[in-house]
Amino acid sequence: MAEENIEVATTEVKEEPKTNVEKKKFYKQHNKNKKKVCAFCEDKNLKFIDYKDVNRLKKFVTEKGKIIPSRQTGTCSHHQRELTVAIKRARNMALLPFSGD
Ligand SMILES: [Zn+2]
Repeated sequence: MAEENIEVATTEVKEEPKTNVEKKKFYKQHNKNKKKVCAFCEDKNLKFIDYKDVNRLKKFVTEKGKIIPSRQTGTCSHHQRELTVAIKRARNMALLPFSGD
């Protein structure tokens, strides 16, 4: 009984740290490639999204003028809402093309 317990304990101790470290490394690398931080949250000087800032808005619009969904750009829901308003204003000011034709 006593010997069995020791064997189980030692094997568990040997295997667990290795796999955990490998998992952590794997997820760290994976998240770096996939997770994106909201570009507007990162910019702390930004108070609101300016529709005149076309160079910034262009990054969130496709070539055809469609707004890229937040899940692709990583924009948070709060800023995505502001962004859509800003893009629509920019379209009305003829700074950005309308989606479609
Ligand atoms: Zn944000």
